[in-house]
Amino acid sequence: MAKNRMLQFVDVQRAMPPKRGAEERRADFDEIYREYAGEKAAEQAARCSQCGVPYCQTHCPLHNNIPDWLRLTAEGRLREAYDISQATNTFPEICGRICPQDRLCEGNCVIEQSGHGTVTIGSIEKYITDTAWDEGWVQPIMPTVEREESVGIIGAGPGGLAAADMLRRQGYQVTVYDRYDRAGGLMVYGIPGFKLEKHIVTRRNQQLEEGGVTFRLNCNVGEDITFQEIREAHDAVLIATGVYKSRDLGGPGAGLPGIVRAIDFLTASNRVGFGDAVPEFESGELNAEGKRVVVIGGGDTAMDCVRTSVRQGAKSVKCLYRRDRANMPGSQREVENAEEEGVEFVWLSAPKGFAGDNVTGVKTQKMRLGAPDATGRQAPEVIEGEDYTEEADLVIKALGFEPEALPSLWNEPGLEVTRWGTIKADFLTKETSVPGVYAVGDIVRGASLVVWAIRDGREAAESIMADLNARASADLAAE
Ligand SMILES: Cc1cc2nc3c(=O)[nH]c(=O)nc-3n(C[C@H](O)[C@H](O)[C@H](O)COP(=O)(O)OP(=O)(O)OC[C@H]3O[C@@H](n4cnc5c(N)ncnc54)[C@H](O)[C@@H]3O)c2cc1C
Ligand code: SF4
Repeated sequence: MAKNRMLQFVDVQRAMPPKRGAEERRADFDEIYREYAGEKAAEQAARCSQCGVPYCQTHCPLHNNIPDWLRLTAEGRLREAYDISQATNTFPEICGRICPQDRLCEGNCVIEQSGHGTVTIGSIEKYITDTAWDEGWVQPIMPTVEREESVGIIGAGPGGLAAADMLRRQGYQVTVYDRYDRAGGLMVYGIPGFKLEKHIVTRRNQQLEEGGVTFRLNCNVGEDITFQEIREAHDAVLIATGVYKSRDLGGPGAGLPGIVRAIDFLTASNRVGFGDAVPEFESGELNAEGKRVVVIGGGDTAMDCVRTSVRQGAKSVKCLYRRDRANMPGSQREVENAEEEGVEFVWLSAPKGFAGDNVTGVKTQKMRLGAPDATGRQAPEVIEGEDYTEEADLVIKALGFEPEALPSLWNEPGLEVTRWGTIKADFLTKETSVPGVYAVGDIVRGASLVVWAIRDGREAAESIMADLNARASADLAAE
């Protein structure tokens, strides 16, 4: 398998003197990296032409003031750059790492449009905030007043945490409920550590906790506590539960051992990264080491699975997708990264069934793109007579996620959902059909992005504060 830049990056860490502790080696490495990154960041930031038509800003879901913080970075005024950057983004260092910038800010940079290569906005955003953490510029949460009203937030992903941060800074009492044992949602258990290092997320969780946000982890709403109990305990409730029901595959052999869900595979890998004991990883069930891996799907989750398999030491890694490269939903940048790492893409191929007692292969049918369907996308059609078997010891299904049926799981029939099962929430206020209950992130949008969840969470916090203020004023007037 081709040795890639990312793996060489890891080798540099390994090449540090062996006698020093891991923390010290990491610090040394970070220092070297920062020095280099600082030079690069200033050099890159200076490439911004300050074009005056900031499409980058328009296409950033948070409308970050990118041209201003680029100019300040180019001038070496990082503290001011940080102040501007954090004013619109709760987790800039996270977005800088994992936003699909090629589809958002960077893809719309006029320098990119004129064929000269984009300003690397995401890396600079990451660099500014990483520096802010190192220099102690990141403000702790210290509300100037304590308010009596409390808000219950269900889900500790980026949507819930962005809202928690804003509400707590204004002095509201905030409790975040999550069924996982760690806060962060897909930022901790979905997105792999090589894209988003976990200490970056956990230090944000710690900042919230130290600022007075209460976390009730290992608390599955609907099982350990009812939705109605949460409503009674708080003045407002925010639902930010994400989407977790994996789309499945049919066909003969679909239930064979060795065929696993992407979310299980990635969660296991992330838990191992945290140092947790994961029996399914130890047993090999959720471990790609030494295996011929076939990942089915063409989205970003599939890219994470192929790249994680490479890092686990898979014998070979293939990605099966029923459309072609131009029509795949995942980021082209991620496809290029995967290819560089030796992943083979098998375009225009779809699974029809599976071979073996434990899986030994994917029975594959070749496809071609036919006429556009109702959505305007060319529909894949089977080419008869060209079936073959793709050999595999581990098959990972990465076909996307759907929402769980919350109204029935939570016994709350008044909570209206769309025909896709996502929660119906007002576009501006984020309020649902149940008064005082708001919803944000993937559970409203369907599988989306961290940056959109952050924006939703911030907007919901604004609405909740306006609503609670209005209620407080009405109570005062009535006295
Ligand atoms: C593998 C993978 C890779 C991704 N990579 C990227 C990427 O590179 N860049 C990007 O921008 N986006 C990426 N995404 C998408 C991104 O992670 C999501 O859009 C984002 O996390 C959604 O945020 P959220 O707050 O709505 O939900 P989530 O992050 O899903 O958090 C929801 C939280 O709610 C909790 N919860 C759910 N139900 C209950 C319940 N009943 N009781 C208590 N708690 C509950 C869950 O445990 C979870 O912690 C990726 C997604 C996946 C699956
Ligand atoms: S938040 Fe995302 S889209 Fe916005 S500037 Fe940062 S990397 Fe670009």
